[in-house]
Amino acid sequence: MRNLLLPILLLISTEALALGWSSGGGELFLDASNPWFVRNTKSVSYCVRIDEANFGISEDRAAELVTSSFAYWTRFFATSSIWQNWGVAHQTFHRVNCNSLANADVTFLFGTLDPLLPQERKQLSTPERRIGIAVRTDYDLSTMRGRGFIYLSPQEGKLALKHGIGKIDRPWSYENGALVNLVLTHELGHVFGYRHDSTLFPMGERFTDDLLDPIYARAYAPISRALESGKVSELSSTLMDNCFEESEVQNVPENRSLLAFYGVREGSRCIRVVQAGNSLRVFSRVQPESAWVLTGTGLVEASTRKELAGPTIYIPPEQSALPREKQVFGDIRNSRYLTLPGGVIESATVRYQTVDRHVQRDLALVKSPLESHLSGFWNGISIPDALNASSFSLFTTVPGSSEKDRR
Ligand SMILES: [Zn+2]
Repeated sequence: MRNLLLPILLLISTEALALGWSSGGGELFLDASNPWFVRNTKSVSYCVRIDEANFGISEDRAAELVTSSFAYWTRFFATSSIWQNWGVAHQTFHRVNCNSLANADVTFLFGTLDPLLPQERKQLSTPERRIGIAVRTDYDLSTMRGRGFIYLSPQEGKLALKHGIGKIDRPWSYENGALVNLVLTHELGHVFGYRHDSTLFPMGERFTDDLLDPIYARAYAPISRALESGKVSELSSTLMDNCFEESEVQNVPENRSLLAFYGVREGSRCIRVVQAGNSLRVFSRVQPESAWVLTGTGLVEASTRKELAGPTIYIPPEQSALPREKQVFGDIRNSRYLTLPGGVIESATVRYQTVDRHVQRDLALVKSPLESHLSGFWNGISIPDALNASSFSLFTTVPGSSEKDRR
């Protein structure tokens, strides 16, 4: 049975719709946030369409980044045998031509809305106010298989993103498409069933918006490169690694506070925080070319664990009408909503002191499956890591071991 949602597009992404009004929730989700593909789908087609002149990168580069984003989620969902059972992101993804939206399961639109019908375009109302969006246009209730598109606004031209002041100019050209990679990965996260979740990289509600901020852009560019190379584990022990420009230390109080918080000596503008087991080491240096100097060490003390919820799969009633062997999750009984485990968040306290013992502080270390936060509280202000640092500890914890169902 086809559940054709056109012309009313089902907007999977909960990025605020520019309709002039918004709701505070209370809607029935049902299958709306199901992964587009589950374990009965073995192969997924996708196509790439781009307005090269206005978007900011070439078609070849865009296609490379699409491959990289698929690979990221494939690796992510391969970290647990529990996830393998649901078959999310376990498909093979192959590229096809892009003549219409019906051609491929997932159509990637870089700065062009060409394949959309006029009424479909209307549903997007003000695309220039969106950085990116994932839209499911069709969902087949019997096969539990979706179809749709991911659109990213171009940096130039008639559809150019209107991102307002303080944001990076020509964001997609920046560092060879580093930000495109991260926005794509965010939008694909929606395709694989994740809603916004600020504890999970890169699914925070404001993640794509923040990325266009020059400070974030610079901090995330190395992460984007690591994701693309598949070498995320190399970042695993580095919680923070950043060098500020001279002016960013002089003019941005938050940056000065961050350096002072760790007791970095006057004149140094680079900081690196590395974790190895139960110990934390903080290094600093005067500028990017000088040698790292050990500034302080920390000891990870108490630690607590909290299990996160992952994507939810709603099993449509149409499934129960099928003979059991034809049902996609026929082995699951008495459950309409399956909540996949999302991993474990570990929180720990860290006792930190500089090598000269002049500075002693308590830090909070929070690790989720794909990222870590290190923060502290000092002189009445909180010192976050996220603003200035590529604070990532990828694949450091494994997803929770229990499966959770709820009706
Ligand atoms: Zn989103």
